[in-house]
Amino acid sequence: MWENTRRKRLRGGCYNPATVMSRTAQDSPRVTSEVMARYEAVIGLEVHAQLDTVTKAFCSCSTNFGDAPNSNTCPVCLGLPGALPVLNKRALQLALRASLAINCAIQPRSRFARKNYFYPDLPKGYQISMYELPLSTSGWIEIEAEGEKRRIGVTRLHMEDDAGKSLHEGFADSDRWSYIDFNRCGVPLIEIVSEPDLRTPAEAYAYLTTLKQILEYTEVSDCNMEEGSLRCDANVSVRLRGASKFGTKAEVKNLNSFRYLSHALEYEIERQIGVIEAGGAIVQETRLWNVAAGRTEPMRSKEFAHDYRYFPDPDLLPVTISTAEIDQVRRSMPELPAAKSQRFLRDYGITPYDAGVLTSTRALADYFESVVRAGAPAKPAANWVAGELLRRLKDSGQDILACPLPAPALAELIVNVENGQITAASGKKVFAKMFETGKSAAEVIAAEGLSQISDPGAIERIARDVVQKNPRNVAKYRSGNEGVFKFFVGQVMRETRGQANPQLVNDVVKRVLSE
Ligand code: ADP
Ligand code: ZN
Ligand code: MG
Repeated sequence: MWENTRRKRLRGGCYNPATVMSRTAQDSPRVTSEVMARYEAVIGLEVHAQLDTVTKAFCSCSTNFGDAPNSNTCPVCLGLPGALPVLNKRALQLALRASLAINCAIQPRSRFARKNYFYPDLPKGYQISMYELPLSTSGWIEIEAEGEKRRIGVTRLHMEDDAGKSLHEGFADSDRWSYIDFNRCGVPLIEIVSEPDLRTPAEAYAYLTTLKQILEYTEVSDCNMEEGSLRCDANVSVRLRGASKFGTKAEVKNLNSFRYLSHALEYEIERQIGVIEAGGAIVQETRLWNVAAGRTEPMRSKEFAHDYRYFPDPDLLPVTISTAEIDQVRRSMPELPAAKSQRFLRDYGITPYDAGVLTSTRALADYFESVVRAGAPAKPAANWVAGELLRRLKDSGQDILACPLPAPALAELIVNVENGQITAASGKKVFAKMFETGKSAAEVIAAEGLSQISDPGAIERIARDVVQKNPRNVAKYRSGNEGVFKFFVGQVMRETRGQANPQLVNDVVKRVLSE
């Protein structure tokens, strides 16, 4: 289990595993699909992403993941008296870039506030966040779920800093230990809050996928979910289809994988419908996804909700952004996934499906374009990269960034297949060898003797031989059984180990048989 789940799980005084266990059974009566169909879910996501900076948000400590506990700390991020925070310029730039990438309006003036609460992993006694004046507002993200495109509203994007990490060990009262690591304290985050526009777990999944892709493209965050660089809280309510008012929502905290998000939403929607159908009412509360039990469980109800006593942080200046600065950020923006996909469709004449696959990451899109730039025709290049290459990388557990096959080498292979130097079937064999050995297409083709046989004389000799050895099938063919033609073609291909030019084989076999 990822440590932060534990940390959050233990946060909030009212959480008690014993009471949770006894309450969950009544929480979730089974609901039939007919009943489910009468309801509609309403979902809003709050996503935290760690900004990809070298140093922390308000001090110069390293953000490096996995360093020795408490080695990356200083008076500022430990909240020692008298220490003064200074905003990391790079963090602000990344947050501005993220804002533009999700179509948010950057506010000319925003402000950091102190969100006060007590917890051992929060040495300052407050989190620095933005409250009443967020960095940017009113954006949208276009998603595609179940074949339909929809625009999902983004309420706000604001900057904040992260807390430390607690580790708990042991269960017996006499032998229980807690450890604290402040390395993550003060690491810069952005929080992106969506409008309650999502209606199904599939849409929520698509929203998080698209947002992750945008943050990766813009290099705002590495979005490494295992390391906690991307975390998601889901707000869910249900209402009868056609109702105009939203139902009471529950918030499911700390969904740190796509699978957990889907499963938690599916569970929570059914649970809420069950409660309502049984004549109960949903209470507004914070819940947690229990991975092992496969259910959401209450963590704290609204009556236990924290009063954070927000107030503007007197140690930090308000953030003011001029239109000139916004223009500068806009100019530094890379091409975004949706625009790239559109361009691929337009410029390369490939299928929308291939365009989607090839633009799934910036590295893959760059690789594909390098293959085309090295001389491979676009359509076959798309097929090779989205098909054979991705399959191979997946099988060997490699990332496109560590692809053993350089783009120009793949281009050479594709050109060889396209101009008939080798057959498509040989192409796959050559590809596998190139991938394994790092040899060039020319080397593999020569070494394996895989050059396509395009000499009509050679093919004719083989065809005559096959015909001679199979008089019965020849008789069948001549008495009108056209189906047997395929047999002869297959035999010739086999004799040439698949290296004969297929069109030529067809022509020659037809001619020899009709003699
Ligand atoms: P809170 O004040 O409880 O934090 P917010 O209004 O700030 O609630 O909304 C937090 C998140 O919950 C947002 O993503 C929002 O879209 C979502 N949300 C708000 N109301 C509902 C609702 N009735 N059902 C589902 N999600 C909701
Ligand atoms: Zn520090
Ligand atoms: Mg809120």
